[in-house]
Amino acid sequence: MRIGVDIDGVVSDSYKAWVKKLNRHFGTNILELKNYDMHLDFGVSWEDMGKYFEDNVATLFDIPDPMVGAKEGIEKLLRQGHEVVYVTARSLDEEVYTLRWMKKHKIPHEKILFTGFQSKVDYVLQWQLEIFLEDFLGNAQAISEVGVPVLLLDASYNQGDLPSGIIRCQDWQEILKEIGRRSSYS
Ligand SMILES: [Mg+2]
Repeated sequence: MRIGVDIDGVVSDSYKAWVKKLNRHFGTNILELKNYDMHLDFGVSWEDMGKYFEDNVATLFDIPDPMVGAKEGIEKLLRQGHEVVYVTARSLDEEVYTLRWMKKHKIPHEKILFTGFQSKVDYVLQWQLEIFLEDFLGNAQAISEVGVPVLLLDASYNQGDLPSGIIRCQDWQEILKEIGRRSSYS
């Protein structure tokens, strides 16, 4: 299968690292994100949060660890003959940091598409992705609405009921199991 894979919150454990950093910067003590739009949790404007990210982009994209099981999971999918296409909301300006991080953690990356916060749906259709791994509910809903199944990696900010096209996975092990199940039927 050709698998679309989001980066932040799916391959990179970005939010855990960012929340720590943001707590120090804003003098807060947030333990768990309730909102995917972090500025809401931190009680600052979208602009202020954006400015902080702009000023600290190199550090913020360097510090996260990979999600548990992500590297091994991607390697396994590739060994099984699947294709992995990363689709991230990061912008093309952030490509250099993204590639550096992928190399640092030895995560296979042949193709990365940078949407710059544009809808991922166009990329999913253009690249004929057959399944998508995502952590943001908004993206998951939009992608599943065009008929592409989404595996939603469970997070504190994506709770709630899911439509039938979106399957919640607790970890990468469950993601692999779900993809394996689907591959054996096709
Ligand atoms: Mg994400």
